[in-house]
Amino acid sequence: MNVMTAEKPSIYSLSFEDLQQWCLERDIRKFRAEQIFRWIYQRRASSWDAMTDLPVALREQLDQELVFHQSEVESHQVASDRTEKLLLKLRDNEFVECVLMREPSRNTICISTQVGCAMGCVFCASGLAGLTRNLTTAEIVEQIARLVQLLDDEEQLTNVVVMGIGEPLANLQNLLPALDRMQESIGWNFGTRRVTISTVGLPEKIRQLADLGKRYTLAISLHAPNDELRNQIVPTNQKIGIKAILDAADYFLETTGRRVTFEYILLKGVNDSREHAHELANLLRGRSTLVNLIPMNDVSLLSLKGSTQQAARDFVDILQKAGLTATVRKRKGADIDAACGQLRLPKVRDRALQELQTQKS
Ligand code: SAH
Repeated sequence: MNVMTAEKPSIYSLSFEDLQQWCLERDIRKFRAEQIFRWIYQRRASSWDAMTDLPVALREQLDQELVFHQSEVESHQVASDRTEKLLLKLRDNEFVECVLMREPSRNTICISTQVGCAMGCVFCASGLAGLTRNLTTAEIVEQIARLVQLLDDEEQLTNVVVMGIGEPLANLQNLLPALDRMQESIGWNFGTRRVTISTVGLPEKIRQLADLGKRYTLAISLHAPNDELRNQIVPTNQKIGIKAILDAADYFLETTGRRVTFEYILLKGVNDSREHAHELANLLRGRSTLVNLIPMNDVSLLSLKGSTQQAARDFVDILQKAGLTATVRKRKGADIDAACGQLRLPKVRDRALQELQTQKS
């Protein structure tokens, strides 16, 4: 790749207003901006050439000045339940993953926000090699666009979960403009309620998100009913503590009127006993919340295992009897390593092994 190509801005870095400005500066008639924007976001074009009603000269100019896709598809897996997973190679040869999950009445995509992750959760493949960098807004939008391009013409995107690689609230500055892009009415026109942002629980950022006045759905990865255990499995908790997270969650509910989801990964012999379930029920009692229990996906390099189905059933039962709304997450794409960070892992295996070695010594 030569330097010129590397410096070309991505089409996905431009909002509709930016694109109008871009046209204005080049004496291109204003309606072209709308035409191009519709091609990309509504007509799911995947190249300039697809924009058949644009003059060839304009298509050439677009191609010279802007990059369509910055990433390359390193691998594209399709599971037997039609879950599709992309491993994208970025311009600096780093990798991220994103997933499309189909259900009869909904099509959900899962997107990444960082290359790697700094949070260090002990069961997670994404953070094994630490954090490399934040994704740009264009890189986040491009993942969405690439997944939308995988849909059949009659299929619509219904839900977005920001649960891929990285900690979304540690990259709010680039994530929020990407989500704003989703809302643009002449583009995807996608409602904020159908976007779920999953966080390890960064209280200040949760408050900041609440104050935006948007109606995003917030999910908090709690994973333990007390600080002693949470410090072990979500190491970043040592600096935060569950109380501060619950206070921020209450603030989110008061400010936005949106119920917060708590995610709880079930790890065999670690946090899945009946006692843990009772303790979790006590912790969340009285809160208007949903508890989403996540069976752990196996991660190569890690010896932790998911709970048995019986343990998961007992756990959910205790929570429900205590009056909480609790569900066990369905597994999608089990035959394609859909656990997030799993596809990228072989690419960063040496770095990951080194990190694990340092942690042990
Ligand atoms: N950093 C954010 C979002 C990315 S992870 C967060 O912590 O929420 C999205 C969800 O997947 C989190 O709940 C995370 O704990 C969970 N997760 C990570 N590794 C997993 C694994 N191996 N199996 C099942 N869930 C996992």
